[in-house]
Amino acid sequence: MKTYRIAAIPGDGIGTEVVAAGIEVLQAVARREAAFALEVERFDWGGEYYKQHGRMMPENGRDLIRNHDAILFGSAGHPDIPDHVTLWGLRLAICQPFDQYANVRPTRILPGIVSPLRGVTDRELDWVIVRENSEGEYAGVGGRAHRGSPLEVATDVAMFTRAGVERIMRYAFGLARSRPRKLLTVVTKSNAQRHAMVMWDEIAAAVGAEFPDVTWDRMLVDAMTVRMVMRPRTLDTIVATNLHADILSDLAAALAGSLGIAPTANINPERTFPSMFEPIHGSAFDIVGKGIANPVGTFWSSVMMLEHLGERSAAARLMKAVERVTADPRLHTPDLGGSARTRDVTAGVIAAIEGAND
Ligand code: NAD
Ligand code: MN
Repeated sequence: MKTYRIAAIPGDGIGTEVVAAGIEVLQAVARREAAFALEVERFDWGGEYYKQHGRMMPENGRDLIRNHDAILFGSAGHPDIPDHVTLWGLRLAICQPFDQYANVRPTRILPGIVSPLRGVTDRELDWVIVRENSEGEYAGVGGRAHRGSPLEVATDVAMFTRAGVERIMRYAFGLARSRPRKLLTVVTKSNAQRHAMVMWDEIAAAVGAEFPDVTWDRMLVDAMTVRMVMRPRTLDTIVATNLHADILSDLAAALAGSLGIAPTANINPERTFPSMFEPIHGSAFDIVGKGIANPVGTFWSSVMMLEHLGERSAAARLMKAVERVTADPRLHTPDLGGSARTRDVTAGVIAAIEGAND
């Protein structure tokens, strides 16, 4: 029987609560399928580790997880530590060296969840946002000089490479082709950003020519927010830069009912390095320790992990179990207007995994 080695990095805040729940349901689905085993190794890196060691993860941290089959991540973000330190010290310290350049974010209205968009149902909103995850506005290029003086200067340079844009476009067109509607929207801002975004558009057109069966269009990012709200049905697969997709995917998560539901996969398509799966939400300091964090985003991310590992039957079983639970309002956490607790939702999903005879 195949055994997958999973590195679990719960991180900070509710990250620890939802990752613990995620491991429980993953083990339940592995037991139920009886076709593979999961060996989960936990790494307690993050804000508390930083307070003891002055860094978010050990210097050889990446070497410790490089040969795992996948990574399940919680959240990086601690109330006592600046956000740019926690983000760059842990999450980006894994994503960038492991070349997880495709950040994939499905958005769908799950059964039992009500979208804040009036009358919009699961048939009208079924998107996958592909976020360029290695360069663009978050490349880390820039600097600060003359600190504290009136002449102080600071720059964050949005850096785009032809190779980087080509590979994310190819990934997005390929993903669009694999979905029934074969429809891609390329988000841009080439009216105002006249260098990199113009190259982005040109490369989209060139790569698009390799995918004649994919219908695609182009949308300025500001107008895209309007289209997502007013005409959600006209969208399917979406590709955007690191910054644009960061913002659009939070909007997408809200339109689909709650930030607590939305999943992410940080994919290294070449499989040279492990890919990383995580809910899109952060540490949620306001609810940490209360036992009410919605674990569904982590469960859905775990579905994406199983798909990536090639365990399609297990992935489908877990997704079905999650949908059975979201369909029951008694198992909604407070972010969905209910009063269920993390452990109720987790137990419900495990019961659905174990109970179903299909
Ligand atoms: P957040 O996602 O932590 O919280 C935003 C709001 O959504 C809060 O009211 C929170 O209670 C609610 N929420 C989020 N996830 C929830 C869940 N699973 N169940 C129920 N409610 C949920 O975003 P924030 O407040 O902007 O950031 C808090 C910290 O997390 C910051 O330090 C930030 O840098 C970090 N963060 C990390 C990541 C990451 O590691 N990927 C992502 C976003 C934010
Ligand atoms: Mn974000």
